[in-house]
Amino acid sequence: MINPALIPLLRAAKDVVVLTGAGVSAESGVPTFRDAMSGLWAQFKPEELATPEAFMRNPKLVWEWYAWRRKLVSDVQPNPGHHALVELERRVPRFTLITQNVDSLHQRAGSKNVIELHGNIRRVKCSAENKVVENWQETKDLPPRCPNCNDGLLRPDVVWFGEMLPRRELEEAYDRCKDAQLIFSIGTSSLVHPAASLPSYGKNYGAKIVEINPTETPLSRDADFLIQGLSGKVLPELVKMIWNI
Ligand code: NAD
Repeated sequence: MINPALIPLLRAAKDVVVLTGAGVSAESGVPTFRDAMSGLWAQFKPEELATPEAFMRNPKLVWEWYAWRRKLVSDVQPNPGHHALVELERRVPRFTLITQNVDSLHQRAGSKNVIELHGNIRRVKCSAENKVVENWQETKDLPPRCPNCNDGLLRPDVVWFGEMLPRRELEEAYDRCKDAQLIFSIGTSSLVHPAASLPSYGKNYGAKIVEINPTETPLSRDADFLIQGLSGKVLPELVKMIWNI
């Protein structure tokens, strides 16, 4: 149920930030990290594969898991939640989408001003030089070696648990939250910091927080508007209520 008091606020807002997490892609068929994994990967915990230690211990396993996830995200489509955020961007004078997702579904839906806090699964980088590698080839031994230094193993260009976020993106995210009038936190468990602290940081500078999630999170008590529901349903409904589209 959407609180009608949100409607005039959003209609008048000149500066809106949206922070998204894995839940936004769930209705496209991308499992969140905390969903149980199925099939081949059911025996592993994602939190134990998405770490530098896991890669050091078993690079082939981690590479193959990401190859499976890369294929999975390229086979699915953006859902009505992603599309509603594109409509929002078209209508709000200053709009920033900060995402923890690495799946490109926002960009594929048409979102333009996207800050990727946790990297992108389509890119790979050299684990020795920490530089993105554009041209690389699959090899019999996995992961492939970096074609530039012929030494480091290639790895996905995503932020693993325990790693630093890209500095420029994080600074920009803080700046945008400082200026925002409304900050939406959508489909994120608000457990992974520093992303989870962005909405409350913005609230200290005067923003109102709107949370959209079927379940409560640590952010819920700070939220000015709490919408319990699926983003693929709630977001199109919200856009329809405001702009009748
Ligand atoms: P999370 O798995 O911790 O939490 C997902 C949240 O989404 C939960 O709070 C859940 O209640 C909510 N949710 C589930 N279905 C929803 C729906 N249809 N609509 C709205 N909310 C829904 O994910 P997180 O908070 O993003 O953090 C975990 C980390 O996992 C992130 O760093 C991210 O990089 C990574 N991750 C990314 C992807 C992706 O790119 N799609 C997928 C899995 C994990």
